[in-house]
Amino acid sequence: MNEKRRLKSLVSETHCVDWFDCLLRDQSHRGHESHDVMISCTRRVQFCSGHRVFGHEGKCRHLHGHNYVAFITAQADELDAVGRVIDFSVLKERIGGWIDREWDHGCVLWEGDSEAIAAVGACQPSKIFRLPTNPTAENMADHLLRIVSPMELVGTGVRVVSVRLWETENCYAEAGECIG
Ligand SMILES: [Zn+2]
Repeated sequence: MNEKRRLKSLVSETHCVDWFDCLLRDQSHRGHESHDVMISCTRRVQFCSGHRVFGHEGKCRHLHGHNYVAFITAQADELDAVGRVIDFSVLKERIGGWIDREWDHGCVLWEGDSEAIAAVGACQPSKIFRLPTNPTAENMADHLLRIVSPMELVGTGVRVVSVRLWETENCYAEAGECIG
């Protein structure tokens, strides 16, 4: 006799059908929850970059900089043998390493912003990253999510599902996978 039938016959003997129904609902509920759990891990990466927001109506159209803080959140289909999505140090080395090389203490400019690229490039040595989109926090977070992370985590079986990029203490933008 399977577990469900055994329980039902046991409960029938006690004439406590309501209790049995509650028990089944409770078991079903808990089982559902256990399948829905998604574990992720997040690494914080801090860097300094200059930029300007091309076409901005206000002061952000000027060349200026920020102390950015990125929160990189990763998931895997299952945890590794040690119980991790991925070691935090790997996120730091791979994605943080890319940020160090390409963005940190450099200038992130829209590739079509030839005026700013020429101006910054005239001051040697210069470090310019040509972003395909305007370097807002939104577009920079999206670049980290969709371009940098898959490239840097190739072969790990781990994917970055969201990047939250703080531009100031008060403002952040987030790029993430759509659910469903
Ligand atoms: Zn800015």
